[in-house]
Formats: sequence, C-alpha cells, structure tokens
Amino acid sequence: MKVLKFGGTSVGNPERMKSLLSLIQLQKAEKTIVVLSAVAGTTNHLVAISDAYHKGEKEEALTLIANLYDSYVVFIEELFSTPEGLQNGADLINHHFDLLKGFAQELFTTVEERIILAQGELLSTTLFQFYLKEIGVQSVLLPALSFMRVDDEHEPIMDRIHHDLSNLLDNHPFAEIFITQGFICRNAFGEIDNLRRGGSDYTASLIGGALRAEEVQIWTDIDGFHNNDPRYVNNTSPIENLSFEEAAELAYFGAKILHPQSVFPAQRYKVPVRLLDTLLPEAKGTLISDSDENKGKIIAIAAKDGIIAIRIHSTRMLLAYGFLRRVFEVFERYKTPIDMITTSEVAVSVTIDNSTHLESIVADLADFGDVEVDENQSIVCVVGDFGPATHGHATRVVEAVKHIPVRMISYGGSEHNISLLVHTENKIEVLRSLQNRLF
Ligand code: ADP
Ligand code: ASP
Ligand code: MG
Repeated sequence: MKVLKFGGTSVGNPERMKSLLSLIQLQKAEKTIVVLSAVAGTTNHLVAISDAYHKGEKEEALTLIANLYDSYVVFIEELFSTPEGLQNGADLINHHFDLLKGFAQELFTTVEERIILAQGELLSTTLFQFYLKEIGVQSVLLPALSFMRVDDEHEPIMDRIHHDLSNLLDNHPFAEIFITQGFICRNAFGEIDNLRRGGSDYTASLIGGALRAEEVQIWTDIDGFHNNDPRYVNNTSPIENLSFEEAAELAYFGAKILHPQSVFPAQRYKVPVRLLDTLLPEAKGTLISDSDENKGKIIAIAAKDGIIAIRIHSTRMLLAYGFLRRVFEVFERYKTPIDMITTSEVAVSVTIDNSTHLESIVADLADFGDVEVDENQSIVCVVGDFGPATHGHATRVVEAVKHIPVRMISYGGSEHNISLLVHTENKIEVLRSLQNRLF
C-alpha cells in the first residue's frame, strides 16, 4: 500500500488532474490511496466567502461564490469529454455551490465556516473520480469524514482512524485505486472540521501511519525539500535525504512544503515520506526516513513569521526556584504553546505564535515582574548537526548575521538546530545571508 498526496497545484487545472493517473500507475503498487487537496486557490477563495458571510456581507459572499462557480464551469468543460461526464460534473458543482449559497439564509458560526472550507476537497476528489470513471478506470472514493477523526484537543485519534479506515478498505477487497480528501476531518462533536491550512500533507501521513503503508509520497510543485525558502532565496537546492527529526523541525519552523505536524505520524510508524514534483516526476526529490546521511553537516534553513516575543524581567527571579514553573503555568492556563525560550539571572524571554490570549497572558505575567512584548518577529531556524562531535557551526551562523539585530538565540535545546529571533522586516536578509555563508 502506498499513499500518494497531490497538492493544490498538482490538481490545479484539468490537464494536471488528468496526468495524475500516469503518476499513480508508475508506482506499480498493489493498492494506492490517493489524497487530494482542493484545486489551487479554492481554499483561499472559500476563506474569503466565509469571511464575507461572517461580516454579514451577503452580497459580497454571493459575488465571490459566483466567481468561483464560473471557474469550475470552465474546469469541468475541459476535464470531461462525454455528455454523461459533463452532466455528472455539472450536477456535482451545482450541488456544492447551492450549498455555499444556502448559508446566506442562516446564522453564521464557526460550524458553517468549517463546512464551507471543506467544499474544496470534496469537489476535487469527486471530480477526479468522475474523470477516472469516464475513461474507464475503476476507483473507490473513501469519504475522509467517515474515518478522519480528531479529539477535543484537536489531536488525531489514531486507533479510530486505523479501525474505521481498515473497515472501509475491507469493503473493497479487489479495488486498486482509492481516492480521499486531504485536510478535512470530524472533530470530537462529530462536526466537519479540518487539520488547519496545508493539512492535506497531514492527512497523507496519518493514513500512511494508520495503515503502516510502504511509503507516503507528497507530490507538489517543486523538486523536493530545498535547503532554504525558494520564495525568498534564489540559489536554493533540493536535499536528497532528511531524517524524520530534521524534516519535522524544518516543517514546524515554517518550511511551507510540509504541514508543521505532518512528519510525526510517519515518523511514529516508521513510514518513509518522499517529496516529489508533479511537473518533473523523474527528479529524485527528497526522501524522509531514519537516515543519518547528514551527519556533521548544516542542512537547511526555514523561517516562521507571526511570532511574538515576551520578556519577563524580575529581580525576584535571582536565585529563586519555582519561578519558571509559575511563568509556564500562565501559558498553560491559556493553552498557548511556547516555541523558543532564553533565560538570564533576572529575565526570561519566550516566544509564542498565537496571540489569541496575549492580553490575558501579559496581565497575569505582570504579577511576576515587568513584561515587554515585541510583535512582528520571525524565527529563523538552521537545521543540521549541532551535536558534540561538530564545532564551529554555531559561530558560522552567528557570523552570517552579524550585520542584523538579533532579539534571541536558542542553541543546545536539541542537537539538530539553532534558532534566531529577528524582526520580520529583516527575515529575508537573514535567510539570504545565511544561504550565502553556510552553503
Ligand atoms: P501544495 O499545494 O502542493 O501543498 P505548497 O504550496 O503547500 O504546495 O508547498 C510547496 C511550496 O512550498 C513550494 O512551491 C515552495 O514555494 C514552498 N517552500 C517553502 N519552503 C520550501 C522548502 N524549504 N523547500 C521546498 N519548497 C518550499
Ligand atoms: N486545501 C487546503 C489548504 O489550502 C489543504 C491543503 O492544500 O493542504 O490549506
Ligand atoms: Mg501544502
């Protein structure tokens, strides 16, 4: 069993969608589960529709819906060639767009918002299945909403996913191609929910882990995991091998090619993950596995925006114990994870990326000392071998950014990374400078 995930651009137009079949057949796998994202741009468009409803701007929402509908009319005209295929396609898009329009009559809450966001993957997967049917290729559509479950902490329930998915597969012992939606799931209340933006990678890894698949393949629009963010840096290059830890660290710290949590299920069940390019299928891509190929090397750089730094300064911290516990308890109370941390005798700095409870957190921390908040920060994370057997790597990193103000440096937490906190306006310069000095 292989799990193949195709991202938004890989199903971004009818030609691309049609070409997926040859990539699936190339695998020569006994069984393949194909995880699809929404057609590129659709989820952003659905977010805009949902925002308009949320603000009570019904006319705006309906205009946005009409625009998206028009693009799907063109899509199905190019995808299907038989009257039956065209009719099926038209019925399908009418069904989904009628549902979107229907929210104009209802009270709009986050429940409706998540139903709207789910329509993209529901559309792309059914369109692909209709296309396969039109050309005479058998496939089975597995509804993600029947097996992808998260609990009240929004954590996937692996046992349940394994159980429900296995049962669905057992109903089709002779089928070879299964198609399912990335991104969408049901939450603890049984409502339609999602795995957060970019979540189709996570879906693929969860399925791969749950079924102990031979391999998970993430097909996207670039020839593998690059050693820096190609959106900001020109001379980046693909990395052939990454360990699960390295990939997880890079994904968590902002490498958009992978959803931040998507490495963990594959890592837990030791399922290798391959990153491949739909437009260049012969390229090697990147293999994420138990590899230790990168020993002794600096491997890659990633950056995560939207970070807030909080410094708590207190002379009471001097020689005190239990101080950090009380500080951390504040973040725990507001379910706000901390990313980076640095301490001195009389101050501690931490970063968070979720500002929902910032005001309350700052108010509670004020009980311990003076609190300073810096917004618009970015974490730049350099991943590589920073273990005891190597030396000089940290110096090279710091040397590369000597012309840029750095707010925090975190080193030694793991042997895999060194992280710098900089103002977001300096991020691109930091990425470029590190690229030029480290590789
Ligand atoms: P998909 O729609 O297939 O999920 P994404 O847009 O989510 O694709 O991810 C692929 C994009 O990630 C690339 O086009 C690239 O711009 C961006 N990216 C950011 N960092 C990296 C990196 N380190 N290596 C490769 N791509 C990266
Ligand atoms: N369609 C979703 C998004 O755009 C999920 C994904 O593409 O991975 O975020
Ligand atoms: Mg993605």
